[in-house]
Amino acid sequence: MDPLKLEKAHHRLLREIERDAKETELWTGRKRFSERTMAAMAAVPRHKFMLPGDEAVAYVNRPQAIGHGQTISQPYIVALMTDFLDLTGSEKVLEIGSGSGYQSAVLTQVAGQVFTIEIIKELARSAAQSLDRLGCERDRVRHGDGFLGWLEEAPFDAIMVTAAPESIPQALVDQLKPGGRMIIPIGRAHDRQTLILVVKDASGQTTTDSVLPVSFVPMVRGKKRN
Ligand code: SAH
Repeated sequence: MDPLKLEKAHHRLLREIERDAKETELWTGRKRFSERTMAAMAAVPRHKFMLPGDEAVAYVNRPQAIGHGQTISQPYIVALMTDFLDLTGSEKVLEIGSGSGYQSAVLTQVAGQVFTIEIIKELARSAAQSLDRLGCERDRVRHGDGFLGWLEEAPFDAIMVTAAPESIPQALVDQLKPGGRMIIPIGRAHDRQTLILVVKDASGQTTTDSVLPVSFVPMVRGKKRN
């Protein structure tokens, strides 16, 4: 792929994300994403996280297949979810559903440390490789079940879940620091889902808010899969 063409397409995508943010303000209450979020979206080369041969569509504002029946999320959704965590740069963040590793790379641009868990072994391996290649050494990938969180590294300032469970996993709420935020899609597979923001206050009480109707792959329970 011609690097100049990719750069142009990347630039165009950033403008589209800004337009989408404006269009969805009615639901989200945010008409634009922060400069930090947009700078992160500008900094991470999404084409490095695509399947070989799919680089040309990396900067189209759509989810794409990454193998194993999974997808790399739509860039606008990546920006939205990143923005809702309100990160300032020093935070310890947990992501569930590493997939391609792209979202995780975006998070390392705006947080201090990122821990990400992926249930499909092959994807955990390839996400780790893509992140290594880009020099994201503040990003750690584990092959495991996100329903359990990452106990050894808990608590987290923020948690992002990029696969949809039917209800908010208690272990993840428990592993969130007081004052922490979690963004998570909730709903049945191939049905209506809602992106939810969970905020834990200083006393440990949580409140939830709906952000947007969304469509994510299901968060699957149980054993690690190969
Ligand atoms: N954030 C990814 C996209 C995620 S797609 C990216 O930027 O590319 C959702 C991912 O969640 C899939 O890779 C799927 O295998 C994974 N997943 C599903 N259930 C999971 C679970 N219980 N624990 C960890 N990962 C899970």
